[in-house]
Amino acid sequence: MDEQGKVTLHDRTFELYLTEEELLSYIRAMADQINHDYKESLPLVIPVLNGAFMVAADLLKELTIPCELSFTKLSSYSGTSTTGTVKTLIGLGEDIANRDVIILEDIVDTGITLEKLYAETKKFNPKSIRIASLLLKPEAYHNRIKIDYVGKEIPNKFIVGYGLDYDGLGRNLRNIYVVTKD
Ligand code: 5GP
Ligand code: MG
Repeated sequence: MDEQGKVTLHDRTFELYLTEEELLSYIRAMADQINHDYKESLPLVIPVLNGAFMVAADLLKELTIPCELSFTKLSSYSGTSTTGTVKTLIGLGEDIANRDVIILEDIVDTGITLEKLYAETKKFNPKSIRIASLLLKPEAYHNRIKIDYVGKEIPNKFIVGYGLDYDGLGRNLRNIYVVTKD
């Protein structure tokens, strides 16, 4: 596997799309906004496993406000497309009543995952819910839930790396790669 140019995972080839430096700059910009907006609060950041583990680590290092962390786990993808059904694998554990909650996603595609998580979170009566996502595919997203903090908008193409996988592989790559046509 060549970390710089192209990578092959299972039967597909991917080419470099967003470097670690670019990703960290998007994350710093998101963190600046969050640090500004939550000065008076102690937000509970809820990253969505598995994909958001890298962005969670890098975003939290850039937060200068006091904050707490609690992971949740949902799954909707199989191969390179969404299955349309979302499974909850780890539920919300912390007491989120009256908390300012920030749901943290690696990427929002159709928004099905987010819709389910948003509804589940709301049941626990948080004080507020905002959404942060490193990446957003606006062409695929047809949902009314506002994404409050977006690192970068990208076209509707399948990507891997920086936490995102193709059937289990590629989460460990430090850059993001996009699938090639062949
Ligand atoms: P949605 O429910 O919005 O359609 O999909 C959300 C989840 O699907 C994301 O949190 C992510 O785990 C996965 N996903 C969406 N787009 C991609 C992609 O381009 N590549 C990978 N590897 N996963 C994706
Ligand atoms: Mg995800």
